[in-house]
Amino acid sequence: MKSRRGREPGLRKRAVLYFTAFVLFILCVIYLFQVVLLDVFYRSVRNREIRKVMETVKSGADTGLSIEALDELSSQYRLCILLLSVDNGNFTKVYACHSNPDCVLHNLSDDELKRLYSEAAESGDYKETVIGGKGLNDDEGDPPDRFRSVIRTGLFTSGDGTSYVVYLDARLTPLNSGVMTLKSQFSCLTLAILLTAAIAGYVFASKISAPLSRINDTAKRMASGDLSLQFPVEGYRETRELAGTLNYAVSEIRRSDKLQRELIANVSHDLRTPLTMISGYAEIMKDIPGENTPENLQVIIDEAKHLSELVNDMLDLSRIEAGVKKPEITVFDITSTVNEVLARYSALMTHDGYDISFVGTPDTINVRADRTMIIQVLYNLINNAVNYTGEDKKVIVTESLHKDEEGREKVRITVKDTGEGIDPGHLHEIWDRYYKVDKDHKRAAKGTGIGLSIVKSILEAHSAVFGVESSRTNGSSFWFELGVEKA
Ligand code: ADP
Repeated sequence: MKSRRGREPGLRKRAVLYFTAFVLFILCVIYLFQVVLLDVFYRSVRNREIRKVMETVKSGADTGLSIEALDELSSQYRLCILLLSVDNGNFTKVYACHSNPDCVLHNLSDDELKRLYSEAAESGDYKETVIGGKGLNDDEGDPPDRFRSVIRTGLFTSGDGTSYVVYLDARLTPLNSGVMTLKSQFSCLTLAILLTAAIAGYVFASKISAPLSRINDTAKRMASGDLSLQFPVEGYRETRELAGTLNYAVSEIRRSDKLQRELIANVSHDLRTPLTMISGYAEIMKDIPGENTPENLQVIIDEAKHLSELVNDMLDLSRIEAGVKKPEITVFDITSTVNEVLARYSALMTHDGYDISFVGTPDTINVRADRTMIIQVLYNLINNAVNYTGEDKKVIVTESLHKDEEGREKVRITVKDTGEGIDPGHLHEIWDRYYKVDKDHKRAAKGTGIGLSIVKSILEAHSAVFGVESSRTNGSSFWFELGVEKA
């Protein structure tokens, strides 16, 4: 086990780390836009607004902009407007609006206004001039932001030939103090948000990791052999589903464990009984001269056969399940194969009165499968039918053709008996290894509880569809389907 110090960071640590990193990133983006680039954005927006006002005033001179409209423009965009008509160097006031009490524009002398006019005329009808609070001729360096104005001077001529000059005093509200406030607020905000993110990450991760830790603890205790435990079903949907799946897996292990115990009890009983019979009869035949009869010998032969069947069944199943025994696929005729298998039951039919019939097509139906394995499936199903059929000793094997949902031709083999059937509650369990409906293991009820699991493993290895229908009155019908191979 790794030492605590050398361990990778857990879910909680990672969540705290990722949450804070994410929040830090978001804060950086906000800082960039809200603090670093704020001034740039502000200036560009303000310039756009002022240009718009300038255009509106110019076009208004032509279309007759009312005083009210100019007042509204001035207050909406927080700037002062001065509109003068120019005639032979004489300036006549057309309109003036004061929306800003600190306005520099309205404190400018006529000379200063004329100078701005000629500067604008020199630079092609438009000029922006930065002016300090003390006036145009301030030469004591840059004025403080509080007194700073940008006077925009625009010249134009209206449709009736009148020349105009418009001055806009657009104050750029100093942002420095706002930015400083934002900066100091930002550090507190960053700390608070980072702390909240870390706590949120920790709480969120704890909610996920706590049930996982408990599942882990339960699994460790289970590994030491206590299969009676249950995984706690709690937390989020995914962890609840995980616990549910693990509980299902454990219940399956428990069931298999129980079946295995039963098998050991059954198999040891099954092995012991024929062995006792074999050794008992052999000793009698050896010690008592008159007992060396063919009947006694037959008992030994039958018991030895039963023993080898038992061992073979167990070996077959473990080989198929371990994947050692793989289907060797060939194309063969299923009709003749069923007939061949049924022929081996003729002795049973003539001596023990069994009525095993076959209802099939006379035609050849080719299938692609492992013939030996399919013969084993048929044997296991027919043996079960013979063992569990009713007093009329009837077993019917049917072969029928049909098309599946995708239009592929299938042949279905059904083995039906007239026995007591299987309780619906046990139907899904009979395919399990070692499962026997008859728990009071009677020697008379033959079998090891492995036959149907061999059938299931073989048919699954062929990806074949199979099933069973059973009722107390009609007996059981076991069936499987194989794809028909076109000639
Ligand atoms: P077994 O060797 O005990 O027959 P199987 O795996 O072949 O083992 O069958 C499992 C159990 O399913 C049997 O013990 C029996 O209870 C039940 N079963 C199988 N086939 C039939 C059948 N045709 N009719 C009634 N019960 C059956």
